[in-house]
Amino acid sequence: MNDSGSLYIVATPIGNLDDISLRAIEILKSVQLIAAEDTRHSKKLIQSIQVDTPLISYHDFSSESATRKILDKLQAGLSIALISDAGTPLISDPGYKLVCMARQLSIEVLPVPGPCAVTAALSVAGLATDRFVFEGFLSAKSGARQKRLQALAREMRTIVFYESPHRIEVCVEDMALVFGADRQVFIARELTKKFESHFLGSMADCVLWLKSDSNNQKGEFVVVVSGCNEEEDQLRKQQQALEIVELLRREVSMKQAVAIASKITGARKNKLYEIALNNVNFDDA
Ligand code: SAM
Repeated sequence: MNDSGSLYIVATPIGNLDDISLRAIEILKSVQLIAAEDTRHSKKLIQSIQVDTPLISYHDFSSESATRKILDKLQAGLSIALISDAGTPLISDPGYKLVCMARQLSIEVLPVPGPCAVTAALSVAGLATDRFVFEGFLSAKSGARQKRLQALAREMRTIVFYESPHRIEVCVEDMALVFGADRQVFIARELTKKFESHFLGSMADCVLWLKSDSNNQKGEFVVVVSGCNEEEDQLRKQQQALEIVELLRREVSMKQAVAIASKITGARKNKLYEIALNNVNFDDA
């Protein structure tokens, strides 16, 4: 029989302290230790809910030996709760290594679900939620950011990003460039906090909204982008196919060029042929 204690992964508020769950309070009181991303930050939360369980530090840069120490305590029978600065641990927050190793040691890992900025934003966005992908933070470097966005341009599911106030404007500008000015986007700013605000509209209008008031660029952000629709997908494929046709036209007939380009890109052949014939660049069609 396994005599280890349990590792509880406890969600805490993302702004409004009243969002702590009754079960989260109960577990934080009952465990022997709380492992926190930032003990000073978490002290305020646990004091506000009259919890006096000792705190220890655990973050992504914790050494192997610090992780080992927590696992040793669990194996010795202590139960430990992991919390992050806000929301659900492991969601763009520390904990992955610890959970992974705890599982390898057959230590029970139990969730105490609650606030999470991804689900909070999705629940009010008004964009499709039946399928979505979570992308977390984009790169701070513009080249890498645009490359990642290019890779997502034809994603049909709703895409969720986290963003910081320093980069929200350039991030949405890059999205407008890569996804197109008409793509729908929802911005959830300062969810559950005093200055919470939302924006829903096109990428082009979102850029204007961000620029219209410097307050719109302050705080914490979730950016929810609607997926690429069939029509937009066909247009992208067509554009790519036309570039291929233009290259191939020097080597093969228009008909062959269109057939090859359509096969590579998935663009509709008949439509592509019609557009290619009318395209001024193809003077010998
Ligand atoms: N673990 C957290 C969760 O469950 O959402 C996320 C932690 S991550 C380090 C912090 C990022 O989450 C912020 O930069 C922001 O993108 C997003 N976020 C967290 N709280 C938020 C809030 N109240 N409103 C909007 N976005 C928030």
